[in-house]
Amino acid sequence: MSSLKATLTFQCPACRKASMYENPKLYTWSSIGKTKKNCSHCHTDLQPEPGFYFGAAYVSWALTVATWVAVLVALKTFAALGWIEFAFLTHPITFLLSGIFTSLVIFPYMFRLSRSIWSHWFIPFQGNESHP
Ligand SMILES: [Zn+2]
Repeated sequence: MSSLKATLTFQCPACRKASMYENPKLYTWSSIGKTKKNCSHCHTDLQPEPGFYFGAAYVSWALTVATWVAVLVALKTFAALGWIEFAFLTHPITFLLSGIFTSLVIFPYMFRLSRSIWSHWFIPFQGNESHP
């Protein structure tokens, strides 16, 4: 599995063969952030130090900015196609509500993705040597 696919599907950064999360379901609020202590396949420590995932907040911030830019581009495109009436300065509420709605709907995925990106940056891939 490629690094990109493993990151997007929240696989262990070391072996890319098991989920990082205890509960694979996205919209389960009580367990959304529960990361496994160790990978169930290769036993790599997925929480190498206290507060390891605090840095994922920076990734989350970047993803949130990207989301809002994507919403703006989508609204401008819909306006250009004549589907809606939209301009950034004349319809700020449309932009605000669309951005908030989109952010809320994709929040579980983005939350986990930011942690996944962070762990893939800092936990090295061990290839096929990681089999126990
Ligand atoms: Zn693993």
